[in-house]
Amino acid sequence: MHKRIAILPGDGIGKEIINGAIRVLNAVGEKFDHQFDYDRALIGGDAVDQEGTPLPEETVTICKNSDAVLLGAVGGPKWDQNPSHLRPEKGLLGLRKELGVFSNLRPVTCFPDLADASTLKTEVIEQVDLMIVRELTGGLYFGEPSGRQMEGGQETAVDTLYYTRAEMERIIRKAFELAEVRKKKVTSVDKANVLETSKLWREVADEVAEEFQDVKLEHMLVDNAAMQLIRNPSQFDVIVTENMFGDILSDEASMLTGSLGMLASASLSADGPGLYEPVHGSAPDIAGENKANPLAMILSSAMMLKYSFSMINEANAVEKAVQEVLKAGYRTGDIAQDHTTVLSTDEMTQKVLEYL
Ligand code: NAD
Repeated sequence: MHKRIAILPGDGIGKEIINGAIRVLNAVGEKFDHQFDYDRALIGGDAVDQEGTPLPEETVTICKNSDAVLLGAVGGPKWDQNPSHLRPEKGLLGLRKELGVFSNLRPVTCFPDLADASTLKTEVIEQVDLMIVRELTGGLYFGEPSGRQMEGGQETAVDTLYYTRAEMERIIRKAFELAEVRKKKVTSVDKANVLETSKLWREVADEVAEEFQDVKLEHMLVDNAAMQLIRNPSQFDVIVTENMFGDILSDEASMLTGSLGMLASASLSADGPGLYEPVHGSAPDIAGENKANPLAMILSSAMMLKYSFSMINEANAVEKAVQEVLKAGYRTGDIAQDHTTVLSTDEMTQKVLEYL
């Protein structure tokens, strides 16, 4: 196969780790006989410095003309005081909007060799292999009206939780499609005992479930889901939920494994290019030091192989290489343990290539 990939390094460690992902993709291309072509583009603080905007037009065009987009991270103290239209995050939010990526996938898998990096007991997390599917473009963060005003001499504020049936249907269907090729269980998380949007969400989930007879659907209230993620996280396969619940639960879930430098994510649209990025930020405290853990970025590129290119064996090969490197005792500083060998960003990438 021949694929075009937009490469958006962004800021801070984004620039360092994205090269690791490209080296791994090139090795995958050679091993499995694919050709990957790359188009680099600016985003975030770097784009503000060079083009005067966090999301240049050219970047949007390059991304839209690609088969998938790989992004490092954006942001840093240099731009913290900028007015809001010149903030690096504005570039990322703008890109998500331009690409219409409505579903955010965050896998949380326990790597056995990192199990003791978690604050939870090993026996609670060792079987964890779950996927949070978060609705990304609707709900409270986008609903109108939203704002502050004076009412009867008192200051008030309002946000609106609004969803159409179609928005609910497409994200819930995505969760079922994912569960079909995983452990065939969907947990739909809502607050149907209180919220009207959740009552509709529950109805829609039941309707979509009819199309997927081999996938089991369970409903769970969000407060219970927050508890169950800590009490017994291995009960979950695919969790699907609306934007704000997903924002909070996905961060909670990501901490089960205790290592930010290992967490990948994908954001998918209906039929355009997907956006793949690590969960962590630009880590300004270690940027430029060749210390960053490239594995979240490399695992994000494995998600791209799987979800955008349907290259399942290729994605599995990358994931297996990462597991083997950890098993052999190689670590970057953020996940270092006793009796392990600490490597630089480049050395860690090299190890993944060797095991691949
Ligand atoms: P961060 O994720 O950048 O860093 C938090 C801590 O984790 C730091 O100590 C950092 O050194 C460490 N860390 C993160 N990734 C690592 C890796 N791959 N290897 C080793 N250590 C790693 O979060 P922050 O410090 O809160 O934010 C820094 C900047 O990143 C801010 O400007 C923030 O807005 C931005 N940010 C961007 C994204 C994104 O691009 N998606 C996400 C979160 C934060």
